Amino acid sequence: MIGNTPLLAIGFRRGGFEGRVFAKCEHLNFTGSIKDRMALHILRRACCEGQLLPGGRIVEATSGNTGISFAAIGRALGHPVTIFMPDWMSAERRQLIASYGAEIAGVSREQGGFLGAIRMSEQFASSRPDSFLPRQFSNHANVEAHASTTGPEIWLQLAEAGLRPDAFAAGVGTGGTVMGVGRCLREKHPAVRIHPVEPAESPTLSAGQKVGRHRIQGISDEFIPAIVDLAELDAVIPVSDGDSILMAQKLARALGLGVGISSGCNFLAAARLQEELGPRAVVVTVFADDNKKYLTTDLLRDEPARPGYLAPDICLTGIQVLPRHCRMCVDGPRVFH
Ligand code: PMP
Repeated sequence: MIGNTPLLAIGFRRGGFEGRVFAKCEHLNFTGSIKDRMALHILRRACCEGQLLPGGRIVEATSGNTGISFAAIGRALGHPVTIFMPDWMSAERRQLIASYGAEIAGVSREQGGFLGAIRMSEQFASSRPDSFLPRQFSNHANVEAHASTTGPEIWLQLAEAGLRPDAFAAGVGTGGTVMGVGRCLREKHPAVRIHPVEPAESPTLSAGQKVGRHRIQGISDEFIPAIVDLAELDAVIPVSDGDSILMAQKLARALGLGVGISSGCNFLAAARLQEELGPRAVVVTVFADDNKKYLTTDLLRDEPARPGYLAPDICLTGIQVLPRHCRMCVDGPRVFH
């Protein structure tokens, strides 16, 4: 139920250009997001290495999907879970975490926002010796999760269709996805381009620190995560949050793909790369989660088109499915201690 997702080839037209974007259906994971891969991998590692003992508490700071993944997988494995989370994240995210039986500690902007949530989670854990802090922003097992599953799956699914990736682009939250997939694909094909993506309104990666605000939940938190090494990556691609919303709306309305705002953002970054690299280029991205966590956000409201946006001019022309790859199946029997 985690990983081994289908890969879509989504046809599009913009002006005279006809192209296609390959998007990995990460919204089909266990709890509906790409973060299940990271959570499962980190917990498995922590159990094997004795950092997480039976019944030990999982404590993490997160902007949402990570909390949902740790709550669901952690509770299923018999662990209490405490999630520290900025209090402006969507109500659906908070309620979902609570629905799995995790405790949530909301952190306001005045309490330090995202950085405050990390600080508070560490203080909380330091007074409870049975706690395990996954530390997704600095834990290399996060990168490993994608280098050992998402990346190889993309490579094999394309190979089975007689294709090889020319570029991969993904919005950066922790950066686990872009660094891990990038590492795997570069090993197999050193010339492949690996682009991090960030909101144009809040370009943390380009600025080196938090600037501005944006509506693409899950990416561009407030700092450059420790696991991100920009020197390993190609240029950062900026995408507007309004354009991302319009693109996610279009994916749902035209193709029935109910994905989240960061998926709209990733699609636009990949479409831009495809236009740059030419119609035969194979450009891959991920649909990180689905639209159900955004029902009370601007994703479900009318979004004005602004000059420079791509989504209004993109016509989606169809989907082809590159099926799941059995050899990469990661949901075989597992033993947790
Ligand atoms: N999109 C969404 C909706 C997310 O929740 C996340 C994870 N924070 C990302 C994209 C980015 O993934 P990563 O943390 O691997 O960079």
